[in-house]
Amino acid sequence: MPEPHAFQLQPAQRQALTERFGTQVCFHCPVAPYTTVGIGGPADILLVARDAAELGDMVSACWQMSLPTLILGNGSNVLVSDKGIRGACIINHANRIDVIEDPAQPGLHTCIYAESGALLARVARVAESHQLGTFEWAEGIPGTVGGAVIGNAGAFGGELAGNFVSATILQPGEEPRVWLPEEMQFSYRSSLFKSSDIKAVVLSATFRLKKAAPDEIHHKMVENADKRRMKQPAARSIGSIFKNPENEYAGRLINQLNLKGTRIGDAEISQQHANIFINVGQATAEDFIRLMEFARQQVLEHYGIQLEPEILLIGDW
Ligand SMILES: Cc1cc2nc3c(=O)[nH]c(=O)nc-3n(C[C@H](O)[C@H](O)[C@H](O)COP(=O)(O)OP(=O)(O)OC[C@H]3O[C@@H](n4cnc5c(N)ncnc54)[C@H](O)[C@@H]3O)c2cc1C
Repeated sequence: MPEPHAFQLQPAQRQALTERFGTQVCFHCPVAPYTTVGIGGPADILLVARDAAELGDMVSACWQMSLPTLILGNGSNVLVSDKGIRGACIINHANRIDVIEDPAQPGLHTCIYAESGALLARVARVAESHQLGTFEWAEGIPGTVGGAVIGNAGAFGGELAGNFVSATILQPGEEPRVWLPEEMQFSYRSSLFKSSDIKAVVLSATFRLKKAAPDEIHHKMVENADKRRMKQPAARSIGSIFKNPENEYAGRLINQLNLKGTRIGDAEISQQHANIFINVGQATAEDFIRLMEFARQQVLEHYGIQLEPEILLIGDW
């Protein structure tokens, strides 16, 4: 479990944030509406950034005030504690997308620039509408560009690292800087920033795609959407709960123990996919944690395999 923050918002900090960010900041606001599973208590400070410049300003202001600071994209890979988030939580709605010239091949418009709050699936749609292929893997992933860069999101044999050209990243006390692939340490569903405690915020990213026939792109997008519909529940969830152990599938192990449909409170192991837990009503983070613990124990007892969470536990536990 993450360490709880001992944090007390000072009246002067509250005033400074209100003066600077006006209606974009609120205090003691629930985080649940900003997550795909609809779970999470209040953040002491909740800020909503509308573009990459505002995101940079907000993060810098919070860092300057030494506030514990967390960025949320679409909240599709996180379980936020019922007690909420101490310090500041910045919701990233910076979502500009442009098709741009390829820096390596001027004149060829085969790159996409996206602010980090743009939904990955929207990038895939923009690519399709410009007859740019190789981004079809992103169809249906409910995360933002920023979250996908941090976690090297991927599906159906593709992953973000395969399209990545660069990202503009802000770190405390520095100017935003352009990061290249070799610095990012991408690995399976991870990057330097996921595998370390380095503080950084992705402001935007650029991806390289390939010209392709519209029918071909459309066919792949539809195929991927269909596969998702068949395998994934439509209910509110956080995607895959546990990492797949080596040469195994977490979902297969849980399924073999007939745990599909098991419910604690309003958290349920999906009937459609045993490694996806869903919120069937008013589930709490506590319900999810207890259900995860139950599944983990059962798998350990029966197979001697220790399942590790794929999702990130965030906030004050
Ligand atoms: C139904 C469903 C299906 C899914 N399918 C897939 C799939 O096929 N493949 C896959 O890879 N994932 C999948 N996921 C998981 C999830 O969508 C991805 O991990 C996604 O990349 C997370 O992006 P996000 O914007 O929601 O990140 P969040 O959940 O908001 O945040 C995740 C982490 O990234 C950090 N972060 C977010 N934005 C920034 C930023 N701009 N700068 C710095 N840090 C940032 C957050 O602080 C947090 O630590 C699925 C999830 C769901 C609910």
